[in-house]
Amino acid sequence: MKTNILILGGGFGGLEVATSLRAQCDDSVNITLIDKKEFFIIGFTKFDLMFGRRAPEDIKHYYADLKGGINFVRDEVEKLDPENNSVITSNGTYSYDYLVIALGVKLHREAIPGFKEGGYSFYSFKQAQKLHPVIEDFESGTILISIFENPYQCPPAPYEAALQLHDLFNKKGTRADITIKVLAPSPIPLPIAPSASASLLELLDVHDIEFHAKHKVTALDTENKCAIIEGQEPMDYDLFLGVPIHRPPPVILDSPFGKDGWIHANSNNLRTEFDNVYAVGDVTHIPAGDFAVPKTGAFAEDAGKTVVKDLLNRINNEDNNVKYNAMGACFVEVGSGQVAKVQGNILGGAEPVLDFLTASEEYRADKADFETSRIKKWFNNRVSPNN
Ligand SMILES: Cc1cc2nc3c(=O)[nH]c(=O)nc-3n(C[C@H](O)[C@H](O)[C@H](O)COP(=O)(O)OP(=O)(O)OC[C@H]3O[C@@H](n4cnc5c(N)ncnc54)[C@H](O)[C@@H]3O)c2cc1C
Repeated sequence: MKTNILILGGGFGGLEVATSLRAQCDDSVNITLIDKKEFFIIGFTKFDLMFGRRAPEDIKHYYADLKGGINFVRDEVEKLDPENNSVITSNGTYSYDYLVIALGVKLHREAIPGFKEGGYSFYSFKQAQKLHPVIEDFESGTILISIFENPYQCPPAPYEAALQLHDLFNKKGTRADITIKVLAPSPIPLPIAPSASASLLELLDVHDIEFHAKHKVTALDTENKCAIIEGQEPMDYDLFLGVPIHRPPPVILDSPFGKDGWIHANSNNLRTEFDNVYAVGDVTHIPAGDFAVPKTGAFAEDAGKTVVKDLLNRINNEDNNVKYNAMGACFVEVGSGQVAKVQGNILGGAEPVLDFLTASEEYRADKADFETSRIKKWFNNRVSPNN
């Protein structure tokens, strides 16, 4: 009898589970991956769109090119029915022996009044593209970069945006006419990592970027171009960039897995309260000391690796050690072609560790390798239509 493994979401977590499992199982295991989109993109390549370094088509990786032996279904997941081991999509019903939920986050731009109308973001593919001509035309005034709420994907990303903006305006000779401020709801940039936060603050300071702690923007007065901030004086802006509110996808909130919001999975093997259902990546809340495992692609991929080990144990009747460590790194472009790293081992030790590693040429090469190696691992080379 075949074992049916169903994976929901083809991002970092889902792609890792699907391809790694396929590489290690024979055809007694059926693997199906469902995603509503036609292509995957690596999170940090949204900055390449924002800064016009790459064209949209250059950063898309089509599921049609997924590694062989995986049944890809482009469809929207509408309902989870774990009592009956089934998932309902807009076009059908899928049953499974094991389910892996890797559906990421839903961004809510409308949650902050005025933001959708008067602000920009670099958190989605479309928004990052829209932002490019806006920053190209920006010559003087104040830019606010606001983190509305924790948690959000890739915690260093808003600071990275500020540093790259500094670099762009510096090269254009307009930097002296532009003020850049980052507003965060927390007292330090990365609450889980005080020492990495101190390094980030130093970098911001050197680049004349203001950091405003405990500044939670609650609305934009788009007419007067002014951000309303909880318990603080309003702040004027000429350009407003925001990290949208992140929530679990609605299909999770409407399911037994979403009663606490993000999915709570076992921090060792990532099984949920339904023993044959796993959850990985941004859709989860995995406690780490006083905080939670940050929402990053690297940790989602590591979660995928953990689930593959646990599934192989079950499929092959083995008992190999399974332990999710949440290890990996976020890359931080700091300008002038330099790349730093925020590297973490969140669950592998006595307490979460997240270090800031100073920018170097080596990390630029690591970043390029991070992208190419993932794409090579998960996708086949796209055959040019002209060949
Ligand atoms: C600007 C920026 C920079 C970043 N830089 C880094 C970095 O340097 N390093 C790093 O590790 N991470 C980085 N990240 C974060 C990283 O992109 C995410 O944390 C990562 O994508 C999470 O992986 P995931 O598998 O949990 O979810 P995702 O990759 O978001 O995948 C979820 C998938 O589920 C699908 N889906 C959702 N709902 C449904 C549904 N109802 N039906 C069908 N399909 C559905 C979506 O289409 C999507 O493909 C960055 C993010 C941003 C925005």
